[in-house]
Amino acid sequence: MNSPALPLATINLESEVRTYSRRISATFATAEGATIVDTDGNRYIDFLAGCSTLNYGHNDPDMTSALISYISSGGITHGLDLQTPARNEFLRAIHDRLLCPRGLEYRVQFTGPTGTNAVEAAIKLARKVTKRTNVIAFTNAFHGVTSGALAATGNQSHRMAPFVPLPGVTRALFDGYLGPDIDTALLLDRLLSDQSSGYDAPAAILLETVQCEGGLNAASANWLSAMRRVADNHGALLIVDDIQAGCGRTGKFFSFEDAGIVPDIVVLSKSLSGVGLPLSIVLLAPELDQWSPGEHNGTFRGNNLAFVTAVVALDKFWSDDALSNDVLAKSRIITAALDQIAACVPGAVVKGRGMALGIEIGDAGRAGAIASSCFAAGLILETAGPDDSVVKLLPPLTISTEQLEAGLAILARSVETTA
Ligand code: PLP
Repeated sequence: MNSPALPLATINLESEVRTYSRRISATFATAEGATIVDTDGNRYIDFLAGCSTLNYGHNDPDMTSALISYISSGGITHGLDLQTPARNEFLRAIHDRLLCPRGLEYRVQFTGPTGTNAVEAAIKLARKVTKRTNVIAFTNAFHGVTSGALAATGNQSHRMAPFVPLPGVTRALFDGYLGPDIDTALLLDRLLSDQSSGYDAPAAILLETVQCEGGLNAASANWLSAMRRVADNHGALLIVDDIQAGCGRTGKFFSFEDAGIVPDIVVLSKSLSGVGLPLSIVLLAPELDQWSPGEHNGTFRGNNLAFVTAVVALDKFWSDDALSNDVLAKSRIITAALDQIAACVPGAVVKGRGMALGIEIGDAGRAGAIASSCFAAGLILETAGPDDSVVKLLPPLTISTEQLEAGLAILARSVETTA
């Protein structure tokens, strides 16, 4: 028997676990660059950019045409981790565009497609190589929501969800957690040096250079260099989770480059494929490649369609410094606009680095109201931080100056109207 067809909007099948679609109620149909269009034809400037998954904007024409020709020529869509020309080309592009120009020596591990799976792999490898359990992770960190990564995530609402212990991680204080005058790197070094501090010898120090989910807390270059030294002093590996802050979001491709440090392990995901197709990798120093075959496996280790678009992204945007310089120029425009807005909101603070920027409004209700008012006026953005009181801007890095300024003007008006 055929059931009568129901209009799509009345079918309430989707789980309560959904998030973004609760506040952003539109149904989105098409997108191009920094513009996203809903099914009623309303156009929005996208300062969410798939939470930094769309650093090159929506549907870059070179990436989509490479994808269409790959599919129409019968290219392999799925091949487990069998070799394909697409995979080999991707490895070539990682070597030519990322590693070689920076003098970096890493091997590439393909993990499952999500960021959290790649973080799991990084932690697992650090423990295996060092034969230690303890991982140091930081206040306000976000590393994903599967058990191993969740243990390193700080946020209580995520941590409470599984109702199981989340062992193997010791919490340390991120840069600036106790204000500008307290050196939390020195504090960690002291705790790890003290045989009676209760801190077990760490397998790894796992950090984000900018805690994007945690409220756009940007670590200083000095703190990051100090963390490199702390890791070395205590026989720990330094893992940089560059899932959200990497792929050019802070200017350079890797967010740690400005600090002049070389992590032992780097985790990449989000904008790696260039168009939002799921793809995650772990970059690991060659001597750490002590994996046995299939030891961290997964059916979707390597997404051939994502390889095709990633190669275009790497060749197109990372053959020279043009995009990096552009990000820094746009970062100055955003910072100037945010400084002006913050001057009108008592206690507001501009936070972040590169084009991962925002304003701590100091009031979650008002931050949410600002985001809603922006949406009503045609700008999509989100809130972040432990209390969701940070209005967070992640525009595509490739956004035009004109569109960037139009989005910032909407934000300024929304801040005024919610006062
Ligand atoms: N690490 C960081 C820094 C992230 O920002 C995220 C996601 O936002 C993750 C890990 C988890 O990635 P995924 O949501 O793809 O599992």
